[in-house]
Amino acid sequence: PVRIRLRQCARTFAGRQGQHTALHPLDLAVEPGETLVLLGPSGCGKTTTLRIISGLEQPDAGGEVWFGDEQVTHLPIEKRDVGMVFQNYALFPNMNVAANIGYGLKIRGYSAEVIRQRTGEMVDMVHLQGLEQRAIHELSGGQKQRVALARAMAVQPRVLLFDEPLAALDAKLRDRLRIDIGQLLRQLGITAVYVTHDQAEAMALGDRIAVMEKGRIAQLGTPQQIYHQPATAFVADFIGTVNRFAILGRGQGSLQVTGGGLPSDYQGDASLLYCRPEDVRICTDDEPVAVRGRVIQRFFLGQSQRLLVDTGAAEPLQVDSSSRQHWQVGDAISLSVPADALFAITGNQTQP
Ligand code: ADP
Ligand code: MG
Repeated sequence: PVRIRLRQCARTFAGRQGQHTALHPLDLAVEPGETLVLLGPSGCGKTTTLRIISGLEQPDAGGEVWFGDEQVTHLPIEKRDVGMVFQNYALFPNMNVAANIGYGLKIRGYSAEVIRQRTGEMVDMVHLQGLEQRAIHELSGGQKQRVALARAMAVQPRVLLFDEPLAALDAKLRDRLRIDIGQLLRQLGITAVYVTHDQAEAMALGDRIAVMEKGRIAQLGTPQQIYHQPATAFVADFIGTVNRFAILGRGQGSLQVTGGGLPSDYQGDASLLYCRPEDVRICTDDEPVAVRGRVIQRFFLGQSQRLLVDTGAAEPLQVDSSSRQHWQVGDAISLSVPADALFAITGNQTQP
């Protein structure tokens, strides 16, 4: 597999209100065989980055794109040897499933025998057995996306690129296909870049995740690093939920924070600490309690429930609990936050 490298890739568009910078100069390496996820809200520059990698878009002057030792900056997409999967499938409506999957092989001049064999392998790989002769309009959204995936993989490209491939599917199909894509990417060991705004998808599929904000990478790391050591408040907020504590004072083994005290040997100089809702512990009243509060809202989530607890602080504390516990709005509740669940955010905040 090939390493992808972007060097100082920026992209500015001319708009009615002057220049608009979709991408600030970006350096990025995708390691051979790695799946890198570009994650961020709409408009942050994910698709632009992917299009620069694919050759559908050129970086501004000075930017370079490398596949291994080969500079591909000025190669058009058809010479870059990339497979792409889009949200809207982009299949050929007048060809059946097999013809769509074999299309890339056909235009590359492979024999009918090779095309038949490779198409068959791809059909097996994406679980479309028996649908080879179907017309595209007879397929469900999930099946169409499987065809698009098979078509992209059939030519054994150097690189696979995905732009929100699951965004148009309903939740159940999305989960199923997410698992299948993850298995395929591991099995193929191909270098892949996967764009999504969905943090669950990013966590599940990324060997590493680049969280993007306003045309810049706010943080690049493993899913674990992104989740447990977010570099900026933006990343912490975008990936799941955080509770924020403003530190008012420090004592022996405890911190005075808005809303109460927290047991902690935290020694750093941050004035804000964070913790995830699932790390807040619900305790019994006779324990040395860190925070007392009252349940003001409750969201049943199936596998868990999220409680919003008024502790007297400006913002309610968000707490996850087993969905079998019978909490109700108005209940008094005692909470503690284990010291090792608290984290500070040390990274620079992104510039405006
Ligand atoms: P994302 O995929 O993260 O939603 P995009 O990369 O599509 O974001 O877009 C980033 C920014 O660049 C957005 O503000 C978008 O409006 C702008 N943009 C993207 N493509 C063009 C274009 N062809 N012309 C003008 N502006 C564009
Ligand atoms: Mg996009």
